[in-house]
Amino acid sequence: MLQVDGHTRLCGLIGDPVEHTVSPVIHNTLAQKEGRNLVYVPFHVEAGQVKKAVEGAFALNVLGMNVTVPYKREVISCLDGIDGIAEKIGAVNTLVRTKQGYKGYNTDATGLYRAMISENIKIEGEEILILGAGGAARAAAFLCALKGASKVYILNRTKEKAQMAAEEVNRQSEAGCVEAMGIDGYKNLPKDKKYLAIQATSVGLFPNTEDAVILDKEFYRRVHTGFDLIYRPSCTQFMKLVREAGGKSYHGLKMLLYQGIEAYELWNGISVSQEDILFVYARMKEAMGIEE
Ligand code: NAP
Repeated sequence: MLQVDGHTRLCGLIGDPVEHTVSPVIHNTLAQKEGRNLVYVPFHVEAGQVKKAVEGAFALNVLGMNVTVPYKREVISCLDGIDGIAEKIGAVNTLVRTKQGYKGYNTDATGLYRAMISENIKIEGEEILILGAGGAARAAAFLCALKGASKVYILNRTKEKAQMAAEEVNRQSEAGCVEAMGIDGYKNLPKDKKYLAIQATSVGLFPNTEDAVILDKEFYRRVHTGFDLIYRPSCTQFMKLVREAGGKSYHGLKMLLYQGIEAYELWNGISVSQEDILFVYARMKEAMGIEE
């Protein structure tokens, strides 16, 4: 049973919309499991109100915030400091309270990394296809470049955005291994090679569960492992197509789990135990009606 008193610390999420978020399950479960007097609440912040929201949170002694769509870039101008990796990615999803204001971090990239490690998915030396060139795709591309992928191809419907993302990631990571393509660009890649594919578009997201950004079976024959950042539904069309072609595939709920764990660790200056991580993940799956 949740107890709120004069010592309760508040953390929250700002975004638009926030109504379907699973993040409260992560943080409130952890706080309860650890016996920490902390509550996590989503706040629906409308366009044009981000600065006021961040200033208001600071004035109200809020310990930390998560930031979701569409404010991960905009929030940077409201911060007192920014972590080096978040600055290079150009997006912030976690605010950590300091003396003068909030410092921004990007736990999407580190969360994706921890999720991939937990599934034994290798980045170093791999050739990787990233579908999409939005904020999540850029974080994924940056992570892959930083962790030693031999080649990263960013494939996007709007090729100019893929080009901009590839240039930015190459410059910021100093890796030089990222190349941009249109969404059909895979057709020009060698047919006998197998790739790790990271699905970072919003295509296939509930309720459009029959959609995938690429439907061509030829693409999926080149994929040994598919990682979809989408977690609603828990088996996307992209994942089904990867499996039908003989590859392994994963949904994005573990990325969500680990980005939350990292945020919680930053806010509280602790390291969450593996046992508690598994406990939280079970609760998240329960909340989403996922049985596997
Ligand atoms: P975003 O910045 O809005 O980018 C959306 C991307 O999807 C763009 O590359 C866009 O291509 C592409 N796209 C959208 N509609 C399309 C269509 N009909 N056909 C082809 N491409 C299309 O979004 P984001 O923040 O990067 O998020 C992307 C996905 O990752 C979302 O589904 C989000 O839920 C998921 N995500 C998951 C986690 C997690 O923790 N698991 C964390 C962050 C994000 P154009 O450039 O051509 O418009």
